[in-house]
Amino acid sequence: MFDRLHGYGRYKLDGCRCYTCAWAVSEYTHQREAAIKAGTWQPYVPAAPMREHIRRLQECGMGLRAIATAAGVDRKRLQGVITGRPHRGTGPQEKVRPHIAIAVLRVEPTLDTLAPRALVTSTGTHRRLQALMAAGWPKSHLADRMGWTYTNLSALLKNERVMVQTARAARDLYDQLWNVAPVSQGVAAHIAARTQARAADRRWAPVGAWDDDTIDDPSTHPDWTGACGTAEGFPRHRRMGHRPCRPCRAAYREAHQTNPPIKEAA
Ligand SMILES: [Zn+2]
Ligand SMILES: [Zn+2]
Repeated sequence: MFDRLHGYGRYKLDGCRCYTCAWAVSEYTHQREAAIKAGTWQPYVPAAPMREHIRRLQECGMGLRAIATAAGVDRKRLQGVITGRPHRGTGPQEKVRPHIAIAVLRVEPTLDTLAPRALVTSTGTHRRLQALMAAGWPKSHLADRMGWTYTNLSALLKNERVMVQTARAARDLYDQLWNVAPVSQGVAAHIAARTQARAADRRWAPVGAWDDDTIDDPSTHPDWTGACGTAEGFPRHRRMGHRPCRPCRAAYREAHQTNPPIKEAA
């Protein structure tokens, strides 16, 4: 499998949160915000930051057409900034109207703007499918609904990356099913119960532990208790009858300066 260099694209697409990636993104975000701010009070702004952003989006697998659509800007205007109009003997435009620069600078590579076959981290896809299984949706049923075979879905659940179109399909499925009871859709009660039990054994987080804003971010943890990662989380897990999660065990250690009184085996 190919590997992206650490930096903007790797942070956005693979969810890498290493120092290099985080630094690249924060530096870049800072620059980009400065460019957006400058654009709010000038009649024309330098085209360079916009050109730079287009280049980064292209590195993430977005084509010029997709960037133009996401920004709501005519593609020819982007072309003017990148290459100019060579047949008329003009080079890349050095200045642009601020509203155009801002619209382009605001485009982010996301599941909705990336090319369908671009590869992204599978974190959000896995979490969504696992949460549905934790709710009692059998893997075979999910596979059917996605138009996949059981075997292919099993393989997908082991892959580190998935195609954007797959991630979108899993997201759509999750949006449809997250608050639907499997038995109301023809899943036999004992099958749903068995699926739930297996998911519990594997410690797959339920729907309620995730926010739509953070489910795709590999650096986030499920919030099982509503207070995970704080001192309050540990006793809540106990009251709910399950083993405290890692952030809660860490918070316990931090608060009590000693290891939590639990066996490490699940
Ligand atoms: Zn990295
Ligand atoms: Zn917890």
